[in-house]
Amino acid sequence: MASQLSLLRVTFLGTSAAQPTIHRNLSGIAVKADTDLLLFDCGEGSQRQMIRFGTGFGVDAVFFTHFHADHYLGIIGFVRTLGMGGRETPLTLYGPAPARRILQAALYLGTEKLDFPVEVKELKDGDRVERGNYSVRAVGVDHRVNALGYVLEENTRPGRFDLQKALALGVTPGPSFGQLQKGQPVQAQDGRTVQPLDVLGPSRPGRKLVISGDTRPCDALAAAASGADLLIHEATFSDDEQARALETRHSTAREAAQVAKAAGARRLPLTHLSSRHDVDPGKLLEQARQSFGGPVDVAYDGLTVELPL
Ligand SMILES: [Zn+2]
Ligand SMILES: [Zn+2]
Repeated sequence: MASQLSLLRVTFLGTSAAQPTIHRNLSGIAVKADTDLLLFDCGEGSQRQMIRFGTGFGVDAVFFTHFHADHYLGIIGFVRTLGMGGRETPLTLYGPAPARRILQAALYLGTEKLDFPVEVKELKDGDRVERGNYSVRAVGVDHRVNALGYVLEENTRPGRFDLQKALALGVTPGPSFGQLQKGQPVQAQDGRTVQPLDVLGPSRPGRKLVISGDTRPCDALAAAASGADLLIHEATFSDDEQARALETRHSTAREAAQVAKAAGARRLPLTHLSSRHDVDPGKLLEQARQSFGGPVDVAYDGLTVELPL
């Protein structure tokens, strides 16, 4: 298996909080990680957004952040569409408790039967789902109900192989090079042992993508997002709605930016906008930029962000 991903791409399917608007659908983020396609939340209408934005329907797993209606009702129709399309491959749905109770009800709502296996797995803070050359880790966040943020992390990549050094140490070109790159010692032509660390540079951290879900600004999430290439944070409100943000356990754009700053994130797309900011999110952008020096975007439906190697 390759030690790293070549493609890591995020597509925003929906960027509105609570209710859909003309411009914005409810929460949903598609992540393409090489051949894997993951969904993070599946608000009502997500399947139509997947058609609009060309993500394909070959979803391997759905990670729900929590079970407020704007984040999961889309799964009901989506599994029906997959069934009609003749899907046979299993689908795994992950989410915080009570994922099992809610998703089982959603899956068996109506009279159609499910034609392919769907498994529901509950996650809690700290749980990690290994997916080959990357993993998805759940982080408990601070919302009105049990809620998780997610950290998608590529595995650490081995350091660069120093060919000249290997030759200088008398390693025979050929299979020995591969062994060293896999972390195995080899014997040089003069019989000495050459260790991988003699010819490999320092290992390189993989790419990191963090999705906050719905939350108040949260230290645990900031810690988990340390050095993230992309921190997708909810920004439901602006400064003048601070009281609402506290009451409903959401974040303002400024608070999202403070989390990004604390985390040292490299780029901050804001999402989950209240309908007040639907058409003109300028205020959110401005307030976030006052607290975070890196690039800030207000995500829109269809926005695609690729994380380069
Ligand atoms: Zn929400
Ligand atoms: Zn919520």
